[in-house]
Amino acid sequence: MQERQMSEEVRNDNPYSRLMALKRMGIVQNYQQIKEFTVLVVGVGGVGSVLCEMLTRCGIGKLIMYDYDKVELANMNRLFFTPQQVGLSKVEAAKQTLLNINPDVVIEAYNENITSGTGFNQLLERMQNGALKGGPVDLILSCVDNYAARMTINSACNELDQVWMESGVSEDAMSAHIQLIIPGETACFACAVPIAVVENNEQQIKREGVCAASLPTTMGITAGFLAQNTLKYLLGFGQTTFLLGYNALADFFQNYAIMPNSECKDPNCLKRQKQD
Ligand SMILES: [Zn+2]
Repeated sequence: MQERQMSEEVRNDNPYSRLMALKRMGIVQNYQQIKEFTVLVVGVGGVGSVLCEMLTRCGIGKLIMYDYDKVELANMNRLFFTPQQVGLSKVEAAKQTLLNINPDVVIEAYNENITSGTGFNQLLERMQNGALKGGPVDLILSCVDNYAARMTINSACNELDQVWMESGVSEDAMSAHIQLIIPGETACFACAVPIAVVENNEQQIKREGVCAASLPTTMGITAGFLAQNTLKYLLGFGQTTFLLGYNALADFFQNYAIMPNSECKDPNCLKRQKQD
């Protein structure tokens, strides 16, 4: 595949010229570095798909995507997927769209459930060896909709000492959060479960006949915050946010950090806490 140069030239036929302007304006020191980063995204639904599109348009080096759902008509109140894609696996549909938008991005797609034994082992392997030039990926982004998948990502990241960001939207679509988790330095998912998740009573969301609400606005906002925090973390500009909470009804934002819990139930979390 012919790789396009990430040129600084301001030309209408340069897809990166408006991004490279961030460098000329002194916001980002080395924007081209984005081509070297690999991000692994778990969950390519209402938040994850939009996040992947944003990172693709920003010129991320490589995306590894995990999901085991199919595109359904019930997803059309959200962004990204189209009715023509109904029936395709979300990762396969997303891969096609993303490569059309930016063929420079390397994309790996797995139609796999990470909470299954084989799925989890494959996830660990890709986390350790999935980067563009081999070796560990730079960041894991969680855009899943259930507690079990979050706990799975949490234990994988504690085990491998892998930095990740968690995200979630409440069942009524009126609140959301993003959270940066650095094993041993900030609270892991098992140290302190975000309030939004507790309020959701998440284990019941997937109950038969119970239908969670969703809005493209809240999901788009959450994907935007997660992508923004990812760019800041990877490219080293501004302040990376530890925990950002969003309440849509009041337009209220909380921004704070949670320290690790010395009584966390995850033994690898306690091990990382002692290392730091
Ligand atoms: Zn913990």
